[in-house]
Amino acid sequence: MKHNICPNCKHNDIEEFFVIPNAPVHSLVTIKDYQEAIAIPKKEISLAFCNNCGFIFNSSFDTSLDYYTQGYEDQQGFSPTFVKFITGLSQRFIDKYDIKNKEVIEIGCGKGDFISLISELGNNKGIGIDPAWVPGRSKVNPNVRFIKEFYSEKHGDLQADCIVCRHTLEHIHDTHNFLKIIRKSIKNNDKVVLFFEVPSIVRILEIQAFWDIFYEHSTYMSPGSLARLFRINGFEVLDMYLEYDNQYLFIEAKPVAEMSDKIHPLEESVEELKKLTVEFVNKIKVQLGNWREKLVMFKEQNKKVVIWGGGSKSVGFLTQFNDIGVIEHVVDINPHMNGNYIPGIGKQYVNPDYLSTYKPDVVIVMNSVYMEEIRKMLNEMGVNPEMLGL
Ligand SMILES: [Zn+2]
Repeated sequence: MKHNICPNCKHNDIEEFFVIPNAPVHSLVTIKDYQEAIAIPKKEISLAFCNNCGFIFNSSFDTSLDYYTQGYEDQQGFSPTFVKFITGLSQRFIDKYDIKNKEVIEIGCGKGDFISLISELGNNKGIGIDPAWVPGRSKVNPNVRFIKEFYSEKHGDLQADCIVCRHTLEHIHDTHNFLKIIRKSIKNNDKVVLFFEVPSIVRILEIQAFWDIFYEHSTYMSPGSLARLFRINGFEVLDMYLEYDNQYLFIEAKPVAEMSDKIHPLEESVEELKKLTVEFVNKIKVQLGNWREKLVMFKEQNKKVVIWGGGSKSVGFLTQFNDIGVIEHVVDINPHMNGNYIPGIGKQYVNPDYLSTYKPDVVIVMNSVYMEEIRKMLNEMGVNPEMLGL
């Protein structure tokens, strides 16, 4: 059944603009068995645009599936590039709002890396909430505790000076209700600062980054639609910015008693975003065609091609091209992914070390931000393949 109202603003003036017919419903669920991996259902992703608020979402998203409680591997902290980025970003945020000796809640804390980091850097007390949390996977800090549950209204009594939510909102279909629950929990404490991070749909549309469209992401936010979501739920936007090669969109906000009319310069209008969706539709066929041509050529030349960077981007990429059969392995630096099978695709993750004997001819890097880090690792193994970055 399709969702025919906008999850952000609840209007029904929505239209579909892009469809991926057979996307595996999971990306990061941990699977140890090939048969189990290929048995993961594939469903349609239908990107829809709300003409009222500019929100983009998968109107075919199945809200009845269990995505997060059966083993979920999403830890990014194994890359030195990422650790440097997240540490710098956290320190800037702490200094900007004086988040020191405060209470911080993180909704969707994953394995707990970020809540541990922000608690350590600012001497804060932290609470991390996530059904996919696993004990022992982040640095032990007596000031941090975890609740292995989905965030809901029942957590409304937890009071905090700062509420953090990174890479979680895009997994939630009913974004309006989610923000409403958070706003309700804050009551009239106007000192609370919110800090949210989501992927930016603007970059996906501008460069036709089809690998960033996958089933686990139900919603796709732009600066404009994200800010509008916060405003209609009783928040004022304090700041917004893009990081990590414009891939990640950040919003900082505070609760207000009356609807804010402050517009941030980064916000685009509904019309501007709509124009980007039209351009995306015009260009995406060429982008997919070029990649297919390249991969078929590698196959004909008997080249050994691997993907570097597991997780959702590799699922998004292979959803389009797995039928060609040229990519044999997917490498990931997270040791907890080693040996797991990719949902719906059936490829098994290997450690970077594997490439020292496999000696690939081509490495397709799923996130160009890591290009230099990966090149260095490969060179240290004595491997010097052609490298293509997304
Ligand atoms: Zn809307």
